[in-house]
Amino acid sequence: MTSLPMESSRNEEKHMEFQFYMPTRVFCGAECVKKQQDLLPSIGKNAFIMTGPKSAETNGSLKDLVDALESVGMEWKLHNKVKPNPSLEEVRSAAEEARLWGADCIFALGGGSPMDAAKAVAVLAACEVSDHTLLTTQKFAEVLPLVAIPTTVGTGSEVTPYSILTNNELQTKSFLRSDQIFPVLAFLDARYCTSLPAKVTVATMVDAMSHCIEGYLAVRSTPMAQFIATQALDLIASVLPAVKDSHELSLEQWEQLLYASMLAGIVIAQTGTTAVHAMGYSLTYFKGIDHGVANGYLLPEYLRFMQQHRQADVGALLAAMAMANLDEFQHTMESLLGVTTLGQQDLKKYAAIAINAGNIKNTVPEPTEDELYHMLTKTFVR
Ligand code: NAP
Ligand code: ZN
Repeated sequence: MTSLPMESSRNEEKHMEFQFYMPTRVFCGAECVKKQQDLLPSIGKNAFIMTGPKSAETNGSLKDLVDALESVGMEWKLHNKVKPNPSLEEVRSAAEEARLWGADCIFALGGGSPMDAAKAVAVLAACEVSDHTLLTTQKFAEVLPLVAIPTTVGTGSEVTPYSILTNNELQTKSFLRSDQIFPVLAFLDARYCTSLPAKVTVATMVDAMSHCIEGYLAVRSTPMAQFIATQALDLIASVLPAVKDSHELSLEQWEQLLYASMLAGIVIAQTGTTAVHAMGYSLTYFKGIDHGVANGYLLPEYLRFMQQHRQADVGALLAAMAMANLDEFQHTMESLLGVTTLGQQDLKKYAAIAINAGNIKNTVPEPTEDELYHMLTKTFVR
């Protein structure tokens, strides 16, 4: 295990030296797509719209976007086949469709899956690269401009430089990371979220919490990221009891969740994620557990591991959520997500996969494979 620098000297270093980069122009508020439609022609002429099969049509976001594009004289083509956890194969096929049609800009409408698929398509429709290059290069010859309209409340992908894709060859999820895939524009209209099923609301809200918690504790954390993370956790904590008790949320509460999710995205855009996401990818890949739920299962044991080394930081996170201790945090997660059991053989395999993930190196202290296995067994073996 790498040794942890003294907390005081670590903070001094962080306060002296960090950068903050977030190039996405964000508009927030009811009807923001329509209100800002005159900006759209500056993005391109031929808009390739990427979304999932159903929700964009039923929540009104697709109609609003199409109306706005048509009002300003833009052509559009709909690709509404994005499935949860899009794969490299799927984005290649969508990129071919976009290229053949002559797309010069990409619009993403939906949760993290359409947004991440659209980011990969923005690269692949503009330049021919192998999967290896796609996942390892940060500078591409050309990338189509991208507009993101989130309709779930968790990934914050509208303000991140990441696209997370299912990699069937490696049997996990892999990252495309480039500043060129930050969306140019993001529109946050919480009216689209009001149709979210409770299960997706919970999963995505918990993902946003995970982004804040991991971002706060990451090797690459910064004072600004920590400030934003605690603000977002505070906002989520104030809506959490209503989500937990399945009360109907007011539009103001949906706005709060969508805003917090975007803030959490800004956090990980600066800091990256850590061991929780590294382990969570296997739960999604092998067991089909939703991304946010996977993270939520793992957060309590991750925080117990962290508390042994970074008590003050874990205390600050609990305070931001107005929670007294980790038992209360665990109880809250269990009441939101329930508990599940997995076999030790599976968990050994997941620890072995996770230890090779890039975000393990972003975890401080850096856990060993045994420590990952310990976190997994404490979470899933009962
Ligand atoms: P998602 O996979 O995009 O969507 C999940 C489900 O929610 C879909 O069935 C979708 O239906 C439905 N849905 C979306 N919006 C809805 C709405 N307003 N009303 C009703 N149903 C709605 O879920 P997600 O959790 O937002 O995204 C997960 C993905 O994001 C994962 O692949 C994860 O790895 C990735 N992620 C990326 C980042 C990043 O920085 N790039 C960060 C975290 C996570 P339809 O299919 O019909 O639309
Ligand atoms: Zn996530």
